[in-house]
Amino acid sequence: MENVTSEQIDTLVEFQKKETEIAGIKVFLNNSPEKLDVFDEKINEFQQALEEKELDFKKMKKKYRENESDVQVNLEKIKKKDIQLMSIKSNKDYQALLTAIEDLKTQNSGLEDEMIEFLDVLDDNEAALSKERAEFSLIKDQILTEKNELEQKCENKRKKLSDLNSDLNKISEKVAPDLMKRYNSIREKIKGVAIAAAKNSVCQACYINIPPQMYNELYKSDTLNFCPNCQRIIYVKNES
Ligand SMILES: [Zn+2]
Repeated sequence: MENVTSEQIDTLVEFQKKETEIAGIKVFLNNSPEKLDVFDEKINEFQQALEEKELDFKKMKKKYRENESDVQVNLEKIKKKDIQLMSIKSNKDYQALLTAIEDLKTQNSGLEDEMIEFLDVLDDNEAALSKERAEFSLIKDQILTEKNELEQKCENKRKKLSDLNSDLNKISEKVAPDLMKRYNSIREKIKGVAIAAAKNSVCQACYINIPPQMYNELYKSDTLNFCPNCQRIIYVKNES
């Protein structure tokens, strides 16, 4: 069995702690762009829904104004035809002109009825829209605040990551190369912690009992020991 000092084990445990923390931060930072996109998507969704309603509102307003101007045009036509009436000699032409004037009046009456309906809808929509605009502004602020918080958190994590990486470099220099090699190969194989404490005869990584004789050996702490079940490096923690 290889010899190892308890200081080396402590250093390795510290190394693993930093490495685990780094891995957690990396996962967080890898997932954050997607989370940040979700905030933008939410805003866009609300904005699009609102813009569609604004557009419908504008179309209806435009239609109202078109009716209004059509009514004016018809009124002008009626006025001209009224004047024409006075100079017409044939009865037939007179009747035709009267019919044309009646048609225009009927048209205007239809247009005006439509306008009254539009006005009701426009009033309702105007109120609903201004409420929704206010709601959207609140929601947008809220989402942007959350997004900002996440961005700030990412920024802090990036700083923390850089600190941890430099810590890790310093600690790794204190670990014997052979021990580090062992540690790395276990870590790669297991894809998790490579060194685990044994507490009350139980490996704290796989939670399987360690044979009593082996557990007693751990207290000598001058050799490198491995969990017979999960093959991780095990060490004993002071149970005080
Ligand atoms: Zn184990």
